[in-house]
Amino acid sequence: MPSLTTTSHSLAQAANAAGSDVRMTAARKEIYEVLAESRDHPTATDVFLRVKPRIPGISLATVYNNLEALTQSGLIKQVNLERMPSRFCANQHEHVHFHCDACGCVMDADVQANIDPPQHWHLPAGAQINRLDVTIRGLCPKCAAQ
Ligand SMILES: [Zn+2]
Ligand SMILES: [Zn+2]
Repeated sequence: MPSLTTTSHSLAQAANAAGSDVRMTAARKEIYEVLAESRDHPTATDVFLRVKPRIPGISLATVYNNLEALTQSGLIKQVNLERMPSRFCANQHEHVHFHCDACGCVMDADVQANIDPPQHWHLPAGAQINRLDVTIRGLCPKCAAQ
C-alpha cells in the first residue's frame, strides 16, 4: 500500500507516491484537490458542486470520469455503502471507515497499531493481503449524544 509521508496535497506528489501515471488535466487536478481538502467523503455530486466554482464549465459526467480515473490509479478510494451513492476519499494514510447509521456521515479511522489481519479473521490459507477495506458502522459522537 502506498504511504504518503508528506502532508502536501499536490497531485504530482501523490501520483508519484502511488506509482501512478495518471494524466494531470486541469479538471483532474481540481477534482483531486477538492477531495484532498475534504474529510467528509463527498459523493460525485458533492465533488461536482465544489469543483464548479473553480471550473464553471465542468459537467457531472466529467467529474464522474475523473473520479473513476483517480480511483483506478489508486490516488483516491471509492467508498461504497449499501443503498447509498459512492463516496470518495483522498486520505492516503492507512485507515478504515466509520459510518454513522443515523446521519449517514463517513469518518476516517486511522489504524492505531500494525494489526495482523490473519489474527482477526479466518482468511483462506495462503491468501495474500493487498489492502484492508473495512467499514465500521455505528453512531457518530453527535448522534450517540442525542
Ligand atoms: Zn451521525
Ligand atoms: Zn477515508
